Amino acid sequence: MKFKSIAKKVAKWGVIITSPLWPIWVWVPTDLVETLYPNVRNQQEAYQILEEEKDKLGIKSPIDLRIYENNELREFGNQGYSGELLKKDGFAIGINRKDLNRIVLRHELYHIFRGDCERAPNEIDKTKDGVLEYYRELRKVNPNSLGSPKYFYLMEPRANIYSITGIKL
Ligand SMILES: [Zn+2]
Repeated sequence: MKFKSIAKKVAKWGVIITSPLWPIWVWVPTDLVETLYPNVRNQQEAYQILEEEKDKLGIKSPIDLRIYENNELREFGNQGYSGELLKKDGFAIGINRKDLNRIVLRHELYHIFRGDCERAPNEIDKTKDGVLEYYRELRKVNPNSLGSPKYFYLMEPRANIYSITGIKL
């Protein structure tokens, strides 16, 4: 068998095997674009970018930005989370210090814009550390979860695409 036909076979089967996981193909460019953006240097800069990006989406509600200084969310494979606060007005976004850049902020804001964060509302009302406890408990129940199909196939790719292109799907 010639190399070319082997390569073709590998490509074909590669696509077939990975197709149920196609959102991964959106992660790759998202991660690449992220590397082009400098990390946010301090809280003041983070809030400034947050306000700029809120304006672009027309989000008026207050947002409590929780920066995880020791990158605690990475323990769960997360860069950040977002959600609606039920006990007071507005939303919360949590992000690891090392993942704090404009792209990740845009990703989380897009979840808020689309109302995706009604997914698990109770976790967000907890304190910054309380959310970590919540994730630890969740992991005990379901260690390898990719989230619901709607989250994995719709909400995540949509937020990633917005974060790097500004396209609102
Ligand atoms: Zn997300």
